[in-house]
Amino acid sequence: MALTETVPAAPAHEGILRRQSLRESAARTYARSLPIVPVRARGLTIEGADGRRYLDCLSGAGTLALGHNHPVVLEAIRTVLDSGAPLHVLDLATPVKDAFTTELFATLPGGLAEKARIQFCGPAGTDAVEAAFKLVRTATGRDGLMAFSGAYHGMTSEALAASGGAQRTSVVRLPYPYDYRCPFGTGGERGAELAARWTQNLLDDHKSGVPSPAGMILEPVQGEGGVIPAPDGWLRRMREITAARQIPLIVDEVQTGVGRTGAFWAVDHSGIVPDVIVLSKAIGGSLPLAVIVYREELDAWQPGAHAGTFRGNQLAMAAGAATLAYVRANGLARRAGELGARMLARLSSLAAAHDCIGDVRGRGLMLGVELVDRDADADATGARPAAPELAAAVRDACLDRGLIVELGGRHSAVVRLLPPLTITDEQADAILDRLADAITAAVRTTPGPMGSSPTTMRGTTP
Ligand code: PMP
Repeated sequence: MALTETVPAAPAHEGILRRQSLRESAARTYARSLPIVPVRARGLTIEGADGRRYLDCLSGAGTLALGHNHPVVLEAIRTVLDSGAPLHVLDLATPVKDAFTTELFATLPGGLAEKARIQFCGPAGTDAVEAAFKLVRTATGRDGLMAFSGAYHGMTSEALAASGGAQRTSVVRLPYPYDYRCPFGTGGERGAELAARWTQNLLDDHKSGVPSPAGMILEPVQGEGGVIPAPDGWLRRMREITAARQIPLIVDEVQTGVGRTGAFWAVDHSGIVPDVIVLSKAIGGSLPLAVIVYREELDAWQPGAHAGTFRGNQLAMAAGAATLAYVRANGLARRAGELGARMLARLSSLAAAHDCIGDVRGRGLMLGVELVDRDADADATGARPAAPELAAAVRDACLDRGLIVELGGRHSAVVRLLPPLTITDEQADAILDRLADAITAAVRTTPGPMGSSPTTMRGTTP
């Protein structure tokens, strides 16, 4: 199989990249590790201005449930454009918004759909996270929040405070069940049970120093944290613990929603019904859109409590409604579950053949490969130290082979795969072939932490 197909090169490529590095901020991220200039895209494939084609397993950080420029998304956008409808309407009612809300509500977990309220937020996931915190603080009259180690909820100040890298006293950090690096040194069901007990104990011990919080926020599968699926039993325990103590449970489905994990919403696997669901990314069908959906009893905030100019993007709502409908009508959640399981099985074989792969895991088409130092000793639970340099080398070797992947995890040592839900079996094989080849190449050229052989590494970790 040819590793990369080529299309006629555009000479602008180098100049655009050079100007970007001269003019854009030092805070830019993906642009550093993926020095490509996309000019066309369809489905899984991006064409760069360098004339190369890439298989895109980053999918706009998990946004593109249907891949790039899916015909139903383009058709929905064109229909709005051709209708003469206003494109920007603050939070006014429109037929497009009405249709989006109806489609979204049709997918909601039973028990929430019948009595849900929706708040259209500013267009980013982080804005919806802020809205969720404000909502539960107003409804409960309490202030503190509970969040989990390794979490990622966004970059605005409150969302960042609830993310794993932050240290804020108003956010109490709880252990997330991470099988491979179990905080309790046990892993498996026992590790998840101990994590749940820890949480329960903090809430019930009046001398724990932790006041009853306004809410608990969690991701059903931690994405940026390193593709860590929470066990369904643990999620049910979190639901019981919060419900019994009147603590609203906020589930952040920004990355896991719309079929990604093999169910329409990742909470559907466990059957829990959250009090608040935070949604963005795929619900906009590749355009910016973010909402929270919540139990109507929580709707105690005042008009204007969470406003914002850009809450009425009609093109995003139309693209989003078309995406939701397409995923639902074509059973793409089930397809993601089945294909993801097959891909995970192949990744497990890859792990058996490479001792630099410490763990492979995921749910549906949200997959991760954790790279470790093969020369280091394993700890008592069998985990070895993360290998971020090797992971960066794998990412670069993937790009050389026409495969776009990004890294996640505590140490940026987890290679993440987030392909569109629409990929074929052959495309899935091509992705894994390129990844396997990239791992072999990166191992050959990357020294261990003690440094023994030359490296051809390129780029930096974002
Ligand atoms: N929550 C989760 C689970 C996410 O993965 C992200 C983005 N990766 C966010 C929130 C923040 O979304 P945004 O970048 O659109 O603000």
